[in-house]
Amino acid sequence: MLKTAVVTGASRGIGAAIVRSLAAQGYEIAGIYARHTDAMQQLSKEYGVIPFAADLAQMQVFAPLAQQILERLGHVDLLVHSAGISCHGLFQSIPPEETQRLYTVNLGAVIELTRALLPSMLKRHSGNVICISSMWGEIGASCEVDYSVTKGALLAFVKALAKEVGPSGIRVNAVSPGAILTDMTTSLGTEALGTLAEETALGRLGTPEEVADAVCFLASEYAAYITGQNLSVNGGIL
Ligand code: NAP
Repeated sequence: MLKTAVVTGASRGIGAAIVRSLAAQGYEIAGIYARHTDAMQQLSKEYGVIPFAADLAQMQVFAPLAQQILERLGHVDLLVHSAGISCHGLFQSIPPEETQRLYTVNLGAVIELTRALLPSMLKRHSGNVICISSMWGEIGASCEVDYSVTKGALLAFVKALAKEVGPSGIRVNAVSPGAILTDMTTSLGTEALGTLAEETALGRLGTPEEVADAVCFLASEYAAYITGQNLSVNGGIL
């Protein structure tokens, strides 16, 4: 039977790299994205990804989205949560609507999509969930407090859910990237990126493909006895 994967944030950056790597391994993939239709269509053309447009900031989308995905794929072997947004500024100065959006995309979507797709994994006594957290979820970042909270919460989510569903044959893990060169980080500017690269033991930023490699490892049989863990992919920045 064909291996199937659902990847959120599939249109760009780390999610798109994960899609390319999983497609190379023969997965049939449902890719969730919000705005970048052209990028998603390209991935569809090249890798046969089935696109699902959905704004993950809207709580009402999760259940119908999961249902549509299951109708197309039949079952889900692997669920990778890569969609995410960042938000910079002093904690007390971020507008409430922006904070709400951040919490829903980075955390609410992970929880609710997993909740909606889990029954199909439980039925088959098999499945794999991987959350893309962040080094800021591990150590906290000034001026990215809410972002750090969402990413730290994902690590707790992974640990707790792994215990609950491990007996049902489902593994749950996190990957915490450091500074990776994508649209999310280029907005920081070259000076800040240079500083981040200098702070990294390997002296450079990471690539989306290097994060995708960690995801593929956790998805594979090489990680068959690994669950409830966080794999840091940060070039030694911490
Ligand atoms: P990115 O290049 O900005 O891509 C973000 C992806 O998330 C896009 O595919 C985007 O879809 C999707 N997305 C954003 N808002 C969405 C929404 N409301 N509904 C549905 N999809 C939405 O970001 P990235 O750097 O690849 O980051 C991927 C993940 O890694 C994120 O969770 C991020 O927090 C985490 N991370 C990144 C870094 C880094 O240095 N880049 C470091 C640590 C952790 P559209 O483009 O179609 O809107």
